[in-house]
Amino acid sequence: MEIQILNKEIRNKSLERMKKRSPEELATSWYQDDLLYSGKGKTIFIILPTPGCSWALGDAGGCTMCSYISDCTLEPIESFQIIELFKREFQKYGVEKETAVKIFASGSFLNPKEVPADARNEILKYLAKNSLITEIIVESRPEYIKEDVLEEIFSIIKNKLFEISIGLESSNDFTREEKINKGFSKEDFESGIAIIKKMKAKHDVKSKAYILIKPILTSEKEAITEAVETARYCENIGVDRVSFCPATIHKGTLIDQMWRLGSYQPPWIWSAIEIINIVRKEIAIPSLMDTSGFGSRRGPYNCKKCNKDLKHEIISSNLDQSLIENYECSCKNLWLADINSSNLNMSKTKTKHLPLI
Ligand code: SF4
Ligand SMILES: [Zn+2]
Repeated sequence: MEIQILNKEIRNKSLERMKKRSPEELATSWYQDDLLYSGKGKTIFIILPTPGCSWALGDAGGCTMCSYISDCTLEPIESFQIIELFKREFQKYGVEKETAVKIFASGSFLNPKEVPADARNEILKYLAKNSLITEIIVESRPEYIKEDVLEEIFSIIKNKLFEISIGLESSNDFTREEKINKGFSKEDFESGIAIIKKMKAKHDVKSKAYILIKPILTSEKEAITEAVETARYCENIGVDRVSFCPATIHKGTLIDQMWRLGSYQPPWIWSAIEIINIVRKEIAIPSLMDTSGFGSRRGPYNCKKCNKDLKHEIISSNLDQSLIENYECSCKNLWLADINSSNLNMSKTKTKHLPLI
């Protein structure tokens, strides 16, 4: 596919320029309020050092918006080092009440080429010993979700909750394949979800889908419609919850190139709010909205007056799953103009960030 050739070229150039960092530098963590399956609580987020996402390192060059590869070593890491760094980060936090742990592998936690099985199992054994860690969340592409691997995981973590987050991005095949270059089909995604659903009879296993808001070559209006449709699809096939990721511009990606050429702008924060309000009214499963990069030049943006307020409103609405209504700002009219007229000339270039705002 044309997009894969272009994507791979961009990826290779960015990998050539990439400054190598050691596993010690790459491992990091933070602790924050979060919505757990048990309700409002705290989560420890830990980024594991890994060699890099196999999909991004392969011939197709990975997904068009993702630069996680720049947070990886690109070379093998010894399992003992991954385990030690995980413990180093975990021990920074005093866990006093029920807490979740989210492990980010900048790719697929369940792919043994990215996180070796012995490192994965040691990390889970370490968490299994702590009765206050009640929920463990990891990310994986669907092809690595396998019954035997999940059985092995539950033989270690027993009755703790284990959630697998999958970057579906869009239920629209054309968008997922041609605009995002995701490299898996809806059938692949549904097979992963089917395994998780089957295992629910024995284990506390959950699924989450990440939904990308506004891939390249998508108008503001299409971005809203597709995100809502994707959440509806997820509910219909039995995904436990969804997490929306409004696009931000990461260096060394195709989306970055298009943004530099003026052919792409990240979504409005108003669009994120519109999606939350529709989804929380019409769809029964919990929905989260990521606010990374909000209000920055490379992220979702409204105007200087309301960016920060709305980011905080979204963060707090994630915790109680509320709607965001009755907030007004003059920039909303510009967003509405974008929504109502961006298809008139079929241009994908957005009017936002103009000095008028
Ligand atoms: S979004 Fe996930 S699958 Fe795609 S390149 Fe990034 S880490 Fe790999
Ligand atoms: Zn505003």
